[in-house]
Amino acid sequence: MAYIICEPCIGVKDTACVGVCPVDAIHPTKDEPEYESSDQLYINPQTCIDCGACESVCPVQAIYAEDAVPDQWKDFIKKNYEHYGLTPP
Ligand code: SF4
Ligand code: SF4
Repeated sequence: MAYIICEPCIGVKDTACVGVCPVDAIHPTKDEPEYESSDQLYINPQTCIDCGACESVCPVQAIYAEDAVPDQWKDFIKKNYEHYGLTPP
């Protein structure tokens, strides 16, 4: 399982989550070239260790455990996986 970033991040991208992730699973960061063109940030499901630290610091409640993503944002599971070239479960 992994954590997933959903719709509320779009246009916010404040990167509060990036600073607390212990395994550097959240991209693009402000230092990366794709940051400006990316609508939102994404969590790498292969790197995420499910610690939950990012969920509690997000100012817009965009982050959910994969099995707790609200129905209206289920397509963001696919979006996060595909951002890293992975196939969603
Ligand atoms: S749950 Fe933990 S490991 Fe996964 S992205 Fe969030 S802070 Fe990083
Ligand atoms: S803390 Fe929330 S709004 Fe900010 S970049 Fe992370 S997911 Fe997006």
